Amino acid sequence: MSGGRGIDVEGARIVITGGGSGIGEATALRAAASGAAVVVVDIDGAAAARVAEACTALGAPPAVARVCDVADAGAVHELAAQVEREDGAVDVLVNNAGVGIVGPFLDTTLEDWQWLRSINLDGVAHGCYAFGPAMVARGRGQVVNIASGAAYIPNRHMAAYCATKAAVVSLSQCLRADWRPHGVGVSVVCPGVIATPIATATRYRGRMVPRRARAEKALGMGHSPDLVAKAVLDCARRDRDVVPVGFESTLAYKLLRGAPQP
Ligand code: NAD
Repeated sequence: MSGGRGIDVEGARIVITGGGSGIGEATALRAAASGAAVVVVDIDGAAAARVAEACTALGAPPAVARVCDVADAGAVHELAAQVEREDGAVDVLVNNAGVGIVGPFLDTTLEDWQWLRSINLDGVAHGCYAFGPAMVARGRGQVVNIASGAAYIPNRHMAAYCATKAAVVSLSQCLRADWRPHGVGVSVVCPGVIATPIATATRYRGRMVPRRARAEKALGMGHSPDLVAKAVLDCARRDRDVVPVGFESTLAYKLLRGAPQP
């Protein structure tokens, strides 16, 4: 079979990492509203359970909450085996879990770098390694990876974040070429500034910092996570390639005008 040709979300099983908050939560709710069976994966079990319950309340097939740290390759493999065994075949995988880091490069530590990379980049690769083989074997599946406009825009004090997101775009495009002859599509969504709590999960000088003021500012600006959710499901349905979303009237958009368009 040659593909990926897109998946009808209604009745599909969709696994969303980082599904307990923000963009992942909005994607889970939108998928459930479209009749998908949603598997909400998050390192925060309570958040995953809350979102799965909200999905089920929408009248979709019952959603499932699974706890997993995407930075742990073994745990992601166990997750894939468990989902396949207990929930069923996976049609769509959304590698969304991600974290932030802010600060001058030399003020952040190697440990900060490794922590960020282990989630934002390795986490995406772990998802592809764990769920990809069954999709390729079946000749059916869509993977949607969440990168960022930061992949294209060199942001001050965000070197590690920008570097991981650029790598996610590259990984996605290479996998798209690799898996297309096997019937599996790979898309990558690059959001602009989106109003989510991501700024609360920020690390600096080797430790997590609350950065409440920054988090509140982030929540008060930017586009709705549902705008990204819509783009994610559109990628699943239509097997789109690289999709920028949410740059209008933001600082990122102004910067992007001077940068190569994705
Ligand atoms: P968020 O903080 O609201 O949600 C992230 C979720 O990922 C949380 O539920 C968190 O518990 C989970 N998570 C964190 N580490 C994890 C791990 N190791 N394993 C499993 N789950 C983990 O953030 P968001 O803004 O919704 O971010 C989602 C994705 O979108 C990220 O990849 C982020 O980089 C990307 N993104 C966000 C923005 C933005 O402005 N918010 C812009 C561009 C890209």
